Amino acid sequence: MNCHRAEKLISRLVDGRLEAGTTARLEEHLQVCPSCAQLLDDYRKLKTLVSELQEREAEPLPYFEQRLRARLQTASRPSLWAVVERWYAAAVPVFLVVAMVLVGILFLVQPAERHLSQSELLLFQGQSPLAETRAIFEEQKPEDRQLQLLFAGLEGQEIVRRGKQ
Ligand SMILES: [Zn+2]
Repeated sequence: MNCHRAEKLISRLVDGRLEAGTTARLEEHLQVCPSCAQLLDDYRKLKTLVSELQEREAEPLPYFEQRLRARLQTASRPSLWAVVERWYAAAVPVFLVVAMVLVGILFLVQPAERHLSQSELLLFQGQSPLAETRAIFEEQKPEDRQLQLLFAGLEGQEIVRRGKQ
């Protein structure tokens, strides 16, 4: 076997596509021809490198782990939310009942008869003390204004007196 023939057969040997008889003859040549033996060695190294590259390509894509983790978190989120929602569903009515009881207690504890200032009384009656004062001062006739101020003062005293009873 010459080197030219051996070179053609070496790649088939490395790929495992060489018949037993031809393999035996090629190996005879390789034992006596260092350059062809070196070629076989280079082919094997190349094959190993190629298979390593193929394995690397078969590896998960970049950020695969991150994306998998994000997907797992998304998948586990509904169950977490279900727990939170269940907790809320129970907590909200309890909170409302507690709040209502507290408001009720505040109203009960508050003294029923309480002195209100004139402004508070006016506010309670739906009148703004400022609006009333402004209305008085907006009167055109000065005598009317004074009369109204007088009456307002009397009314104020009356409201205070009634408030104190
Ligand atoms: Zn050779």
